[in-house]
Amino acid sequence: MTDTTYGFDTLQIHAGARPDPATGARNTPIYQSTAYVFRDADHAAKLFNLEEVGYIYSRLTNPTVAVLQERIATLEGGVGAVCCSSGHAAQIMALFPIMQPGRNVVVSTRLYGGTVTQFSQTIKRFGWSAKFVDFDDPKAVAAAIDDDTRAVFCEAVANPGGHITDLDAISAVSDAAGIPLIVDNTTATPYLCRPIEHGATLVVHSTTKYLTGNGSVTGGCVVDSGKFDWKANDKFPSLSQPEPAYHGTVFADTFGPMAFTFHGIAIGLRDLGMTMNPQAAHYTLMGTETLSLRMDRHVANAEKIAQWLEADDRVDYVTYAGLKSSPYNHLVAKICPKGASALFTFAVKGGYEACVKLVDSLEIFSHVANLGDTRSLIIHSASTTHRQLTAEQQEAAGAGPNVVRVSIGLEDVNDLIADLDQALSKASA
Ligand SMILES: *Cc1c(COP(=O)(O)O)cnc(C)c1O
Repeated sequence: MTDTTYGFDTLQIHAGARPDPATGARNTPIYQSTAYVFRDADHAAKLFNLEEVGYIYSRLTNPTVAVLQERIATLEGGVGAVCCSSGHAAQIMALFPIMQPGRNVVVSTRLYGGTVTQFSQTIKRFGWSAKFVDFDDPKAVAAAIDDDTRAVFCEAVANPGGHITDLDAISAVSDAAGIPLIVDNTTATPYLCRPIEHGATLVVHSTTKYLTGNGSVTGGCVVDSGKFDWKANDKFPSLSQPEPAYHGTVFADTFGPMAFTFHGIAIGLRDLGMTMNPQAAHYTLMGTETLSLRMDRHVANAEKIAQWLEADDRVDYVTYAGLKSSPYNHLVAKICPKGASALFTFAVKGGYEACVKLVDSLEIFSHVANLGDTRSLIIHSASTTHRQLTAEQQEAAGAGPNVVRVSIGLEDVNDLIADLDQALSKASA
């Protein structure tokens, strides 16, 4: 079922799924199979030639994973999606078809700490590089783009601070330069924000977080809007010219708006092997079915807790964009009208020492490196997720030593506030 005229609540349960043709099983089975029998030699040849779509080998495609791909693509308003083993894998899978040695990507300073490290260090080994820019300033983004820039990358609602990116302003800049905008929509989810409607070319996810929603499996996804014209200039030869890694196929000619998705499967997954397994797809499919219900509660709890923290004397400031005091508050209505998600930071009076005491004193909140769980989570970013960053990078990312990051869960909000209250008392004693 892919009829996008249905409402979000219907699509999050049904998109991509149909009763199992062999057994009638109503829930999508976990197709725990590595390979698929070809009807005959001609069928096999057609599949390998990409003349017919079907299943060959689960490094490339798997029926359970395919349902999740169609579901996330539908929820994001894209034409196709490729799932992979983690959010970090999704970022490499998004860049792989459009980058080459010597090319660069212009990225926001406000990103998940692991992404800052991936972009500032690891991608250099592929001959790629990243330029970090303050995305609150679209002119600075435009100024950073040069002849070798092949993409612009940001998070819709940024981890850890919950800052909102003005995607319309940024996509105007990437459009003018003739390059794609890649938006990490992990923190907002397609229920709160639909980056493609604001001009994104590709949307990446760590499905590990809210899409699965209960901290059980890692996974990632790249969604293609199908709207980018890869042939408009000569910057994207893997898509617009004969691709030597697939016996000279011109993906943009053969697959039209599905070029990026087919490239991701036929070459990205085939050669990089960052495949999502069907068990993970199953857990994430179950998560997507309740996404809107969970996000509404995550947002309601986060709003109450952010307001309570902001009014508390033991707290210096709270970064939640849903607060009237936030410099990003005016972007909520435009970018994420159903709420600013449930991830934000707050600064504790007493600095590093008080943060460590706070984290150790909480009873309901868990001290973990994750977000988007049913459970409320807290982490001291400067000593963990953002530890590899310089002091300057930590400040730019909103993860200074006096700051803790919370991911507000689905528990009773009064219990969460009471827990923060007792732990703040111990931290400031
Ligand atoms: C967690 C996270 C990632 C990385 O995802 P993994 O599934 O852990 O590889 C990327 N971006 C954001 C915003 C994240 O929160």
